[in-house]
Formats: sequence, C-alpha cells, structure tokens
Amino acid sequence: MRYSKQRQEVLNVVIASNDHPTAKKVYERVKKVIPKISLGTVYRNLNDLVSLNEIKRISIKDGNDRFDKTICNHNHVYCTICGKVMDINYTIDDKDTMQIEKQTGFKITNSNFNIKGICNNCRKER
Ligand SMILES: [Zn+2]
Ligand SMILES: [Zn+2]
Repeated sequence: MRYSKQRQEVLNVVIASNDHPTAKKVYERVKKVIPKISLGTVYRNLNDLVSLNEIKRISIKDGNDRFDKTICNHNHVYCTICGKVMDINYTIDDKDTMQIEKQTGFKITNSNFNIKGICNNCRKER
C-alpha cells in the first residue's frame, strides 16, 4: 500500500510539472510531500510509470532523462547550455514515415526526435 501511495505521489508531481523534470527534480518535489522517500524509490516509480504508459521518458543523449506528463506523440527542442526542454508541434506523420522507410529500407519503430539549440535566456547571457 505504501508503495502505491509513493507511486501516486510521483505521478502527481510529474502531472503538475510543465518543465519536463529530471528524476532528481521529481525527487525534490516529491520530498516535500513524502520527506522520507529516497531517490532510488523515485527512480523505480518513474520507471514503473513509464512502463505503464502513464508518463513518457525523453532520452536526451548528453543529459539526464526527462519525464513528461504529455504522453501523446510530440517532439522536443532542448537547450544544450541549461538543459531546458520544450514541446514542439512538429511530428513525423505516416506519410513521412513511409517515405523514410522507402528511402532507407528501415522499418521505423519510433519517430520521436529532439532538436538541440540555445534557449532565449541563454542567448541573452551571451
Ligand atoms: Zn538555456
Ligand atoms: Zn513534452
């Protein structure tokens, strides 16, 4: 039962977050509600929630994984300086997928992508 309550709280935190938080950020936020929770427990629950398709994991090659409350198909732009992640409206549709498959001979299984850049704030500081 305790396990479910923790998982529910981890889910609540991700749903309340608009910034695609890292596991560590989720941990800091859950700790305010469940002070005794450990980082390992938060990781485990995040992984479970991803498997259950309740939340989405965004893997960023040169950074920490992010967690997203928006599970429908969408893509991201991320800042290579501060790590800020934002949603973008571009998706690869069925027609694009077919074209890529025709061109490469690959069977596309996942067409999510992340675009790198430098965000507004970081550009101002330069
Ligand atoms: Zn930035
Ligand atoms: Zn997103």
